[in-house]
Amino acid sequence: MATTKRDYYDVLGVPRNASREEIKKAFRRLAMQYHPDRNKQPGAEEHFKEINEAYEVLCDPERRLSYDRFGHDGLRGFDPGRPFDGFDLGGFGDIFDAFFGGTGTRLRREARRGNDHRSRLTIAFEEGAFGCQRELDLTRTELCSRCGGQGNEPGSQLARCPACDGTGEVRRVQRSLFGQFVNVAVCQQCGGEGRIITEPCQQCRGSGRQRRSRHLEVKIPAGVNDGAQMRLTGEGDAGVNGGPPGNLYVDIHVEPHKLFQRDNSDIIFDLDINIAQAALGVQVQVPTLDGPHSLKIPPGTQNGRVFVLKGRGVPHLRGQGRGDEMVRVRVVTPTNLSSEQKRLLKYLDDTLKAPPGSQDDKGLLGKIKDALG
Ligand SMILES: [Zn+2]
Ligand SMILES: [Zn+2]
Repeated sequence: MATTKRDYYDVLGVPRNASREEIKKAFRRLAMQYHPDRNKQPGAEEHFKEINEAYEVLCDPERRLSYDRFGHDGLRGFDPGRPFDGFDLGGFGDIFDAFFGGTGTRLRREARRGNDHRSRLTIAFEEGAFGCQRELDLTRTELCSRCGGQGNEPGSQLARCPACDGTGEVRRVQRSLFGQFVNVAVCQQCGGEGRIITEPCQQCRGSGRQRRSRHLEVKIPAGVNDGAQMRLTGEGDAGVNGGPPGNLYVDIHVEPHKLFQRDNSDIIFDLDINIAQAALGVQVQVPTLDGPHSLKIPPGTQNGRVFVLKGRGVPHLRGQGRGDEMVRVRVVTPTNLSSEQKRLLKYLDDTLKAPPGSQDDKGLLGKIKDALG
């Protein structure tokens, strides 16, 4: 078999003294050219495998040295393409047994979680308060729908891996100053499965994965606030080698409201009243998330006083009930007064400066009320 193999340097088209960089470059160029995804000509796949094999040897300094000295035969202990019989280099069978005798440890290709995805949704203030349903488009990697991620064409049989003879492990001898060591590594050809695909899935070409565009319905719960992040477990990329899928994280941006501010589950509404209303009291209609609400502002209300409308806030994100609406009074000092208004205020000023008891307060309030109509 070894005699039919082409020289690895010829396969990659590089001189025998080529640097690693040159080898890498040549490999990339040829791999692109003969990749079965791009090149449909007969023999392209075989050639692609040959290129891979040549590169695997020549990019590994240890294996390249061995190949340079002994040719293809120098690689027998290393070559993942053939079973390693354990006697080529001689004399280590005992070490082998001592270290690994009968333990039968299975080393598998590492299962990895799929990549996470991240997305962003902008919703209105009321949608954040009461929840909503939104649609989201994303393109992600999923398990192939044809082979279910197995990589082989449905109905086709898996073959025993010739590189490891079905054990999933490749044993390599390493020589050092202290003697020989046996290294057990995951079989590169089968990834530790011990079986290989003979007929790759037509849809994914054996990768077991495919890119897909997805349209997701996202249910945003009531009480979500600006800057919240939702996790949609398992909606990211499919896992690798049987690993779990990644998650989809959705960053929520809640648009500001023209009247309300959010403070967790509470909402704040600023109510502007004039100084006469603050002094005399007034009945007002304040907006709430559920429509107008009548509120009595008592006489003598100071600027900054807060009136609480129980249960008129935003539903609690986790749990029962709703927050409150805080009506924060802002007493607005009048500007652009008419001369009549100025006169009344001057009069008010004079009476307020007078010592207590020297004025008939009820009479004064009556006059102001009359003036305000
Ligand atoms: Zn497939
Ligand atoms: Zn194998």
